[in-house]
Amino acid sequence: MFEQEREALVNILKEKGIKDERVLNAFMDVERHLFVPDIMKYHSYKDVALPIGHGQTISQPYTVAFMTEALNLRPGSKILEIGTGSGYQAAILEKMGMRVFSIERNNNLYNTALKLFDSLGIRAALRCADGTIGWEEFAPYDGIIVTAGGPTVPEKLKRQLAIGGRMVIPVGDKKTQSMKILNKISDDEFEIKEMPQFAFVPLIGKEGWKEK
Ligand code: SAM
Repeated sequence: MFEQEREALVNILKEKGIKDERVLNAFMDVERHLFVPDIMKYHSYKDVALPIGHGQTISQPYTVAFMTEALNLRPGSKILEIGTGSGYQAAILEKMGMRVFSIERNNNLYNTALKLFDSLGIRAALRCADGTIGWEEFAPYDGIIVTAGGPTVPEKLKRQLAIGGRMVIPVGDKKTQSMKILNKISDDEFEIKEMPQFAFVPLIGKEGWKEK
């Protein structure tokens, strides 16, 4: 279902500069319409963020592709995602052969993703918790991807990143953020690149924004 629409979306991603074939293949394989509410299905292959309930969104496909490509992963890498949301980003990473650990703070979204992963046979470890403090038990991670925008890069996440690993995280105010790409050189040294103009829902937690 929607195969032509998926192919058209992959072409849009290529036009926008996504080059990694593994990322593009995963976008061809993972059925985004399964990750959005029924009422949104016919919009699911447009390159836009869509509401998934509880005031949250499934990110724009280009943003998912950009962040995934920026992680520069080898198959079998261990990845921590903060902000499971619909589960689509985690499903893309799993399809690419990564070992995925994903944390969502909203209990309803967590339960929906858990059921969906179970029905689709997606092997990713999900947890309902504050992701700004990471998931110590399985650290260090080869990659960390944060899909909500925070005021700073959480210290605990920096610590849980493996040396040689990458973290991709939007940082800024509550409306707009720049995407930071951190390469961990040593325990306390990071090389940081930054791309402006992204807009994510807020990262809420101990090392994020405070809940109102
Ligand atoms: N990656 C998601 C996807 O593929 O659908 C998109 C996620 S949405 C843009 C951001 C998610 O981050 C929301 O579901 C929100 O509840 C969650 N979130 C915000 N702060 C969080 C935190 N501290 N820990 C875990 N999840 C958080």
